[in-house]
Amino acid sequence: MKVIVMGAGVIGVTTAYYLAKAGAEVVVLDRQAGPGLETSYANAGELSYGMTSPWAAPGIPVKALKWLFMKRRPLFIWPLISPTMWMWSLQMIRNCNESSYRTNKSRMVRISNYSRDVMPDLIDETGIEYDGRAQGTLQLFRTAKQMKGSKADQDILAEYDSPFEVLGRDACIAVEPALAEVRNKFVGGLRLTADRTGDCRMFTIALAEKCAEMGVEFQFGQSIRAIAVENGRVAGVDTEVAGRVTGDAYVCALGSYGPRVLNPIGVKLPVYPVKGYSVTLPVTDDSYAPQSTLMDETHKVAITRLGDRIRVAGTAEIAGYSNRLGPHATDTVKHVINDLFPKGGDITKAEGWTGLRPMTPDGTPVLGGSRYDNLFLNTGHGTLGWTMACGSARVVADVVLGRSPEIAMDGLTADRYA
Ligand SMILES: Cc1cc2nc3c(=O)[nH]c(=O)nc-3n(C[C@H](O)[C@H](O)[C@H](O)COP(=O)(O)OP(=O)(O)OC[C@H]3O[C@@H](n4cnc5c(N)ncnc54)[C@H](O)[C@@H]3O)c2cc1C
Repeated sequence: MKVIVMGAGVIGVTTAYYLAKAGAEVVVLDRQAGPGLETSYANAGELSYGMTSPWAAPGIPVKALKWLFMKRRPLFIWPLISPTMWMWSLQMIRNCNESSYRTNKSRMVRISNYSRDVMPDLIDETGIEYDGRAQGTLQLFRTAKQMKGSKADQDILAEYDSPFEVLGRDACIAVEPALAEVRNKFVGGLRLTADRTGDCRMFTIALAEKCAEMGVEFQFGQSIRAIAVENGRVAGVDTEVAGRVTGDAYVCALGSYGPRVLNPIGVKLPVYPVKGYSVTLPVTDDSYAPQSTLMDETHKVAITRLGDRIRVAGTAEIAGYSNRLGPHATDTVKHVINDLFPKGGDITKAEGWTGLRPMTPDGTPVLGGSRYDNLFLNTGHGTLGWTMACGSARVVADVVLGRSPEIAMDGLTADRYA
């Protein structure tokens, strides 16, 4: 079977890997000059199995209003004249209730835990390097109120068998020794011990190289204009340079841009770009640098150690498809690294980046079949595409090849929006 994978981000490349491993002939198309050059480029690097939750949760609309007025705010909304944006926002608000939260969370955890379980095999099989570590995530609380408020999260973690530890100030310092320098800036933390970290872009590039060795053909610089449909089936993918590229099956892994080619053929998915920012700086002194991932609960900023670099990422900005790297948002992430690890890295060498999270209003990705029997979807991973990549790719490859996925697919497919 010949499969055309649209998109060479972390999702498209992992899909290509599992398809090729199962013996399929695979062609990957991407408009960029190489793999992992859009949203998979410089994310926070967290494999957040324990923190897998939808953003749409009870109380979020009120919290969001407060965030909009913070000095260093984690949320920006530009009031665009875009019916798609307002419709998507409304759908998200509709998911901010206890019952939807529980349903959405359980779906997300299903795919996230599956990813956690299958990723080590992929790493063993391929031997790829990606600055990976397995030292957990420390959610850092600056106030006693935040610490107390985490009790609800702890109950949910216990319910989903996600291992965690509640740590006082000294115990936080024991896992992240550099915090001793700023011990008065926090009161404690919640540590998710099964979480891992790693550089998503390094992983994507290294896996793409393995895929090429396995016979996967990558066609870069191929901007996809449209998906061609004839007689109720996908007949090919129309690209600007190579013209029509054909196969037996097609997988759409175009991240935030999926709707642009899916909408015209009647596959309507509520995937909307939610912009985020990061800065990456070199470690200057290991003893003052973070060892794993920390999540600053006040600013909603993640700080992750990636080899000899520190990645600091956060901010949610609803600004359509704008790729502008606004200083208003990198200021917040820079403030957090200066505040917590002032001697760990060289902020003057920080490289700024912005990316568009392909978000669904319910937080769950869209996996599996579509209304066309030879078109498959692997998209809408929002804030957790790196975390969910291996599991999503494996189930989508199984569905494409007519095999039974190892996890239930109900609630993960496009049918939930029908
Ligand atoms: C600031 C920030 C921090 C994040 N932190 C984390 C984290 O810590 N952990 C985590 O799990 N997730 C995180 N994420 C989310 C994660 O990065 C994304 O979910 C993931 O990268 C999405 O991967 P993708 O392959 O779907 O999209 P992309 O990486 O964007 O890949 C889509 C590909 O499609 C191509 N493409 C698009 N349109 C066309 C077209 N018309 N023709 C040809 N090619 C096209 C693009 O070139 C691109 O290569 C973060 C995101 C951001 C923005």
